Amino acid sequence: TTLSTAQHRDITYQLHPYTNAVKHRQIGPRIIERGEGIYVYDDQGKQYIEAMAGLWSVAVGFNEERLVDAAHRQMQKLPFYHTFTHKTHTPSIELAERLVQATQGQMSTAFFTNSGSEANDTVIKMVWYYNNALGRHDKKKIIARNRGYHGVTVASASLTGLTPNHRGFDLPLPTMKHTLCPHYYREGLPGESEEDFATRMTNELEALILREGPDTVAAFIGEPVMGAGGVIVPPNTYWDKVQAVCRKYDILVVADEVITGFGRLGTFFGSEKYNIKADIMVLSKQITSSYLPLAAVLLNDKVNSVITRQSGELGTFGHGYTASGHPVTTAVAIENLNIIQEKGLVQNAASTGQVLQSALRELSDHPLVGEVRGTGLIAAVELVADKDSRRPFDPLGSVGAAVYERAHEHGLIVRGIQDSIAFCPPLIITEAQVRDIVERFVTTLDEVHKT
Ligand code: PLP
Repeated sequence: TTLSTAQHRDITYQLHPYTNAVKHRQIGPRIIERGEGIYVYDDQGKQYIEAMAGLWSVAVGFNEERLVDAAHRQMQKLPFYHTFTHKTHTPSIELAERLVQATQGQMSTAFFTNSGSEANDTVIKMVWYYNNALGRHDKKKIIARNRGYHGVTVASASLTGLTPNHRGFDLPLPTMKHTLCPHYYREGLPGESEEDFATRMTNELEALILREGPDTVAAFIGEPVMGAGGVIVPPNTYWDKVQAVCRKYDILVVADEVITGFGRLGTFFGSEKYNIKADIMVLSKQITSSYLPLAAVLLNDKVNSVITRQSGELGTFGHGYTASGHPVTTAVAIENLNIIQEKGLVQNAASTGQVLQSALRELSDHPLVGEVRGTGLIAAVELVADKDSRRPFDPLGSVGAAVYERAHEHGLIVRGIQDSIAFCPPLIITEAQVRDIVERFVTTLDEVHKT
């Protein structure tokens, strides 16, 4: 392929996240120029349905003027101020209040960061600080799950349970441990019921806690439904059982709602769907529809009261970012929440989500399809080399990557996670648009199957 000047400049000057540089130089990047509703357009004018909402994150679509106006108004009034050392500003106050209130009494305070990774780093430090304040200096380990995704900073990448985030980086850090991924289709034993599978998963968690020593384990972190690890929906009783084990050993529960927050599963928070009563919640992405970078850590009273009651040596939580609670990003988040509320996007995710789930499940008989999974407006179709044995494709000739690539030709942006194809469209999507996604996907799948 001959590359355009812009593509050539990109290849020359930019190092991209999660991108194989050799392949990048060969195929050349797609230059995305503008957005409208659920669609984005490249510099050739080609339209794509953004069936991943960017990075699981653009709730209100790609041209919401109200967010542009909110940013503009705040830029004119107070483009920057910080929230350190007894200073604050109205947008950060209002957003903190709105987020806490949205948890209906479960959470007490909000702490702002710029990204989900930084938020999870902040969580780790809060958990450590909390136990130091309680004099429990050995209770520092944090348990996450294989295939969980919690970010890429040194500490949050250590929580992430995916090999590419560890390989070459000397990670994970030794205080971060991993337990099993609750993926029944892949990890369930022959003849094992989903209920028994959930019990086995939590028995394994308890065994890990006992091996490490309960007095050394501080927290458990998980996404209500795993996103980047392949859209893994846990068995219904899984979270009840996990929480019971954590409570038994005085281990804090952290719900990483970076993807599941703000309606993705058809409930305002994913925690509502699984009755998760977390001590700490992490929010980002759809908080601003990703128009600007923002994340929040919410603390319940149990954690907050310990962190804020200190007045001596640990009196000041020595942590925070220049842009923590940035007035423009928090102002945009407030307007984004207004839109989610006024347009009933949580309800829309629930109803269009049902259409997505049932339309994808109709593909279960397709010769390439092993499992269809998901809930609300997040789903994945796992492709297999052999349906009966569930044998995956040779990872070197990834069929997921082939589907991902070819889908572009049909104006569809999805995500290939090994051989699982993920869907996570903007919450403003209509039923007809959901059906359009599935039709384009089937066309793609049939073509890949033929070749
Ligand atoms: N946690 C979850 C569940 C995520 O999905 C992500 C990003 O995909 C992160 C944390 C990290 O967020 P960021 O990419 O903003 O650092």
